[in-house]
Amino acid sequence: MFYMHLPSDVEFIIDRMRSHGYSAHVVGGSVRDSLIGRELGDFDITTDALPEQTKAVFSEYKTVDTGIQHGTVMLVLDGTPYEITTYRLDGDYKDNRHPESVTFTASLEEDLARRDFTVNAMAYSPSVGLVDPFDGVHDLQRRIIRAVGDPYRRFDEDALRILRALRFASTLGFDIDESTSMAARELSSNLVSISKERVYTELKKLISGTDAHRVLLEYADIIAVAFGGLFVKELPNYERFLNADYFTRLAAIFDMNSEDPISVADNVLASLKTDKFTRTHTVSVLKAYKEANFTDERVALKTLARYGKEAADGVLSLGILEKRFTNSDREVFMGALNSAKPYTVSGLALRGSDLLAIGFKGEAIGASLEKLLYAVIDGSVENEKSALIAYLSRDAEV
Ligand code: ATP
Ligand code: MG
Repeated sequence: MFYMHLPSDVEFIIDRMRSHGYSAHVVGGSVRDSLIGRELGDFDITTDALPEQTKAVFSEYKTVDTGIQHGTVMLVLDGTPYEITTYRLDGDYKDNRHPESVTFTASLEEDLARRDFTVNAMAYSPSVGLVDPFDGVHDLQRRIIRAVGDPYRRFDEDALRILRALRFASTLGFDIDESTSMAARELSSNLVSISKERVYTELKKLISGTDAHRVLLEYADIIAVAFGGLFVKELPNYERFLNADYFTRLAAIFDMNSEDPISVADNVLASLKTDKFTRTHTVSVLKAYKEANFTDERVALKTLARYGKEAADGVLSLGILEKRFTNSDREVFMGALNSAKPYTVSGLALRGSDLLAIGFKGEAIGASLEKLLYAVIDGSVENEKSALIAYLSRDAEV
C-alpha cells in the first residue's frame, strides 16, 4: 500500500475531522507530487464536512472565510494556512470558466470526478490509503496528462484547463494524451474568454517548467491564443533554455519570435496584466540588448551605469542564452560589479548636497553627477572629492 508522509499539522487536521465523524483526505497536487517523488507544495484537504461543520471542528483555531462560497475554509495553524474544501460537484459553466453554482456532495469520488486531470484526481488519507478512481497512478507511470472524463466536455466547461494541461506537461515533463491534446487544440480559441490574470499565472508556470522548450514548440498554436498571438517558432537549444531563468526565457521568446520584440513584449505583457516588474524589466532588457556590451571592465561599468544592475544582468543572461555573449563576458561583468570604480552616482565620493553647497542648482546637479560617474569610469578623474570638484570647475571654465 502506498504510504504518504504527511506533515504533522496535516495529520492532525485529518485525524481530528475523523474523530468528529467526518472523512478527510489530502488531494490533488500533493498526492501527485508525492507519488513521483517531487518536492511538495501546498497540501489541499478535501472533506465531506460542510464549511460550517469544519469551522465547528476547529472552533478554537483561527479560520478565514475568503473561499467559503466555494466551500473552502482556511484553517491557520501556527501561522500556516491550510485549505479545507467540502467535496463538491461543479455546476453549469456559463463563460468557459466560472461554475454557476457550487453543489456539495458526500461522495469523494464525485469530488475527484470534477478535477481536471487523472494525475490530479487522487486523494489520500492514512486510514483509507490512496483513492484513485481514474487510474492516475497508471498515467503517472506512463507520464501522461489525461483529462478526467471526456476532454471536449471538460475543456468546454473550463478553457483554462487547456492551458493547465500544457503547464503540467511542461512542469512534469509529461506527454499529453492524444484525445486530450486533440480536444485542447480544437477548443483553444475559448482561451480568449479566460481572465488574463489566470492565463498569465499558468503561462508563467508553463514557461518556467523543466520541459518548457518542448511544450512551447509543440503547442505553439494553443500558446499563441493565450499569449497575445505570439507564435513560438524558434528557441535556443534545449539545454541552454533549461538553464535559463524565467525572465531570460521570456525575453528570448520575444526576441526570437517577433519582428519588433520591444513593442510586442510591451503590448503582450500589458494585455496579460502581468505585475509591473515583469513588463518593465522585460522591455528594458530588450531595449538594452542591441547596444549593451561587456567587452572589458570599462565597457561593462558603462553598461551597468546606463541600464542599471538588474537590466544589465538580464541583458547578459539573454546574450548567453542566445550565444551572443559567453561566460567570459559574465566574468567581466562580475569584475565590474566588484570593481573599485562605481557604476552608480551613489558610489561617487561626492554627493548632490556637496554640489548644492558650491552653488549648483536643480537639474545641473543630477547632470553633473552623471558626468562625473562616466569620467571616473573612463579614468579621466579619480573618485576623490576634491579631484571631482576640480574636474567640474575646470570643465566649467573651458
Ligand atoms: P501546483 O503544485 O502547481 O499547485 P496543483 O495540482 O496543486 O499544482 P492547483 O492549481 O493548486 O494545482 O489546483 C489544485 C487541484 O485542484 C488540482 O490538482 C486539481 O485537482 C484541481 N483543479 C485546479 N484547477 C482546476 C480546474 N480548472 N478544473 C478542474 N480541477 C482543477
Ligand atoms: Mg496547488
